[in-house]
Amino acid sequence: MAARTTTGLIVAIDGPAGSGKSSAARLLAKRLGYLYLDTGALYRAVGWKALKEKADLRDEEALRGLCAGLDLVATPHRDGTKVYVDGRDITGEIRTPEVSRAAAAVAAAPAVRRRLLEVQRAVGKNVGPEGGVVVEGRDIGTVVFPEAPVKFFLDASTEIRVKRRYRELKQQGLAVDLTGTRREIDMRDLSDASREVAPLRPAEDAIRIDSTALGQEEVVAAMVAAIEEKAGR
Ligand code: C5P
Repeated sequence: MAARTTTGLIVAIDGPAGSGKSSAARLLAKRLGYLYLDTGALYRAVGWKALKEKADLRDEEALRGLCAGLDLVATPHRDGTKVYVDGRDITGEIRTPEVSRAAAAVAAAPAVRRRLLEVQRAVGKNVGPEGGVVVEGRDIGTVVFPEAPVKFFLDASTEIRVKRRYRELKQQGLAVDLTGTRREIDMRDLSDASREVAPLRPAEDAIRIDSTALGQEEVVAAMVAAIEEKAGR
């Protein structure tokens, strides 16, 4: 397969936690020679900062203030997204269950979503006609880049999503158990699906992929085939 399937493209990938979208987005970006913007890392960065400042995660006013003074930089690369807050690289620190929960909580605040919308769209503008970016999150196809020519919505059974997340946390050396991981996934599913602003749902023109019984390679192969079909090859 050619290293680059098409140019100047935004590929949107949305789906719930554990649906396999981060692995698929990373692999797809590599195949296409595109950048990879992990938008969850931005919500994690805000959650991380809110925890650090001991802000009330449900207080819209407090979060608005936090966002107003937030020095946040996100740089997409081929293999991931680096995130800096106040000039400090926090990319590795934002993967804990505590930050996951904080990210899901602050993601419900309209002020946070507005601020991060700017950051995400600025990255999209910098892609250039010859470049491409795989953007992965919860509202990419519906809100952030509704005009993206290719959109995917990845899902999987709750059981398999919990197992994947558990394995991921274990690999990071974190002390987790399946019950706690299930609780984290349930809480994030509920909060993502029920928030008033930009709730998690597939865009009407998204290609749906159920990854329950698929490996990463199979998911990415299905994505590449869909992209090539769109590009008329
Ligand atoms: O994708 P990840 O698990 O890193 O995302 C962390 C949290 O950030 C999610 O649980 C979700 O609440 C929020 N998020 C969001 N919109 C996005 C990306 C992430 O609300 N586009």
